[in-house]
Amino acid sequence: MKIDLSTLSHEPLPFDLKVGPDEIEDLSAELELTDDVSVAGTIRRQGVQIEISGEVAAKANSSCTRCAEPFPLTITADFEVIYVEPEHFSSEKDKELTGVDLNVDIVTDSEIDMGQIAREQIILEIPEKLICREDCRGLCEKCVQNLNNGDCTCETAEIDPRWAGLKDLL
Ligand SMILES: [Zn+2]
Ligand SMILES: [Zn+2]
Repeated sequence: MKIDLSTLSHEPLPFDLKVGPDEIEDLSAELELTDDVSVAGTIRRQGVQIEISGEVAAKANSSCTRCAEPFPLTITADFEVIYVEPEHFSSEKDKELTGVDLNVDIVTDSEIDMGQIAREQIILEIPEKLICREDCRGLCEKCVQNLNNGDCTCETAEIDPRWAGLKDLL
């Protein structure tokens, strides 16, 4: 899904796109997109810069790093990216207009690939802890039973984390 840059003006041009999972390559081994990714926002030309801001929303499946069960997750990200055309790139960099939160990137084409933007934004937003739920109990280290489905019969010396808080109260 590409946006043609030749038609842009300083007036923000709204866009609302669906990008198919097959248009987003090399996303991440941890995620499998389960639906079209929505990318909506505005794009405009501001001097030598092309400014794009908006929101990416993606639905995906991942597998829990504690219990290994698949689980769905939704990733949303607000983003603002700035592109400059190659002939202006070095002069823009010299001006040090790169704000802390802004990416200045280079356009190599007369088009901007929204699939590429969606991919970058999704990767930035992949949660650090990929777990099916906050209180996922994971697998028993000995018998590998999924403890979310009930206790196994292994003996453990460790206090069940659900009771650890209670112990402090006693
Ligand atoms: Zn889990
Ligand atoms: Zn066990």
